[in-house]
Amino acid sequence: MASNASLSKAGISVCLLPSSVGSASKLQFANTFLINGTVAIDAGSIGFHGTPQEQGRVRNVLLTHSHADHIASLPMLLINDYEPGKDCIRVWATHATQEALRAHVFNGVIWPDLEEIGTPESPFIRWGDLVPEVPVEIEGLRFTPITVDHTVPTLAFLVESQECSLVIGGDSAPTDELWRRARELNNLRAVFLEASFPNHETELASVSKHLRPETFAEEVAKMPAGLPFYAVHLKPGPAQQIEEELAQLGNPNIQVCVPGEEYVF
Ligand SMILES: [Zn+2]
Ligand SMILES: [Zn+2]
Repeated sequence: MASNASLSKAGISVCLLPSSVGSASKLQFANTFLINGTVAIDAGSIGFHGTPQEQGRVRNVLLTHSHADHIASLPMLLINDYEPGKDCIRVWATHATQEALRAHVFNGVIWPDLEEIGTPESPFIRWGDLVPEVPVEIEGLRFTPITVDHTVPTLAFLVESQECSLVIGGDSAPTDELWRRARELNNLRAVFLEASFPNHETELASVSKHLRPETFAEEVAKMPAGLPFYAVHLKPGPAQQIEEELAQLGNPNIQVCVPGEEYVF
């Protein structure tokens, strides 16, 4: 087990950024978790958030996978942050996700090829390599990527400080390795887990490799009783129904994560 000596002695805060710009809507159209205000997991909404100065506090973005609801605002974030002579944001991703973004987003058609137009003194993007199971330390936190089961290569993250740890689940069908690893964590305080579809959408959830309240509950049961689970990634259309079905599970440890609210552990 890696030494914790270099990790922060403080707790960890998590904010699921709102993705409905200029309204109080709590619907989750796109995904970004802001960790301790400075590290982003996914870039679905962060490039539309606040001001360039506020976005500029984020120097590292870790991507779970290449789907649009997780990378939609990455092109804007990188441009918003660009200043000649200033270092740029580091985007951490697996090779598969990096290649997908190079081929389909930063390809000179959808968005400029940021690696080509940047210079060593004034870059637009720097990549960080994420390899499943290999932890990276960023700003006093350890992020361990774990492969989960989705339609493209996708990661979940174990996030640790000296004080506590969290699980940030990626988009995924039911999975086991994540929970095996999560059970080994010290002071695990909470899990953020997707609940994308209502229960009747069995076929759609299955082909798109997402959870429904029923399968969400089966994932919860793989962990010790009493651990708080925050449901995220509720599809905006049926969000109300998904929320009701989660409530019907009758488990007080399951809550729907409120975008914009800071959860401090
Ligand atoms: Zn996805
Ligand atoms: Zn998604």
